[in-house]
Amino acid sequence: MEIVIDPDAGFCFGVTRAIRMAEDAAKKGPVASLGDIVHNPEEVQRLKNKGIGSVTHTELPKMQDETVLLRAHGEPPSTYETARLCGLNLIDATCPIVSGVQKKIKKAYKESLAAQGQIVIYGKPGHPETIGLRGQTENTAIIISEPTDLDAVNYNQPLWLFAQTTMQPAKFSMIADEIRNRFIQAGQNPDKMLRVYNTLCHYVSGREEKIREFARRFDVVIFVSGANSSNGKFLYSCCKEENPKTYFVTHANELKKEWFSKVSSVGISGATSTPRWLLEEVKRQIREMEI
Ligand code: SF4
Repeated sequence: MEIVIDPDAGFCFGVTRAIRMAEDAAKKGPVASLGDIVHNPEEVQRLKNKGIGSVTHTELPKMQDETVLLRAHGEPPSTYETARLCGLNLIDATCPIVSGVQKKIKKAYKESLAAQGQIVIYGKPGHPETIGLRGQTENTAIIISEPTDLDAVNYNQPLWLFAQTTMQPAKFSMIADEIRNRFIQAGQNPDKMLRVYNTLCHYVSGREEKIREFARRFDVVIFVSGANSSNGKFLYSCCKEENPKTYFVTHANELKKEWFSKVSSVGISGATSTPRWLLEEVKRQIREMEI
């Protein structure tokens, strides 16, 4: 049986960097990540075994003089202020791409105040990255996750549109087009009123097409991801649409022998939060099932 691991699966640059920073810090003393460093329970456990714990946002103000790592998703300004007041030693592992988006939004927010405009972010409400991005606007930005949310926007005021880095490119374009149409319907010139900033991350935006192609190549696809990864859920649904024999697992011990009966090829893929070692472990387990 041919078993192939998707070459594009595994941690993105930002997550790899944050984990490396956490591991380096743990060599010098105890460190806790603010929220799980990655949406993958297996990797969280591996890091815990190395002395990298995690704390919640509720626990943060109760800490004193400890070392806390800010993960790749980034944080709003209020987190930095809390850390300062508690005398925490911060290790800022915000992905440089996310920091760049935060800076752009902060700048646009200042412009929008002068122009009585509004900042709109295409993102998931409650997602840590979106919370960090919205924090740049004193929590005033409007979060849009579906075109149906666009009623919340005022089409007689200028608008700056951004996106959470991991959202879907096709939907971002659809939302930008819909905003344009609504400006026209309101009798406004969208070229003057709308500024669109495509802040999607190129590490993930190209993956949909590639993973669809990958899923079509195999008899069976095993998709490995933490259950709470939004990127994982989306990429899994792409695989499932292309190949109905796609199975979602969070760990190698969830594999079922019957999935591989009379099968000659298996593709293994995962989310941007799925560690490479876990994909290798799944491959090993499938090989053992063959025997
Ligand atoms: S998905 Fe992109 S922006 Fe987000 S952490 Fe990874 S590299 Fe950074």
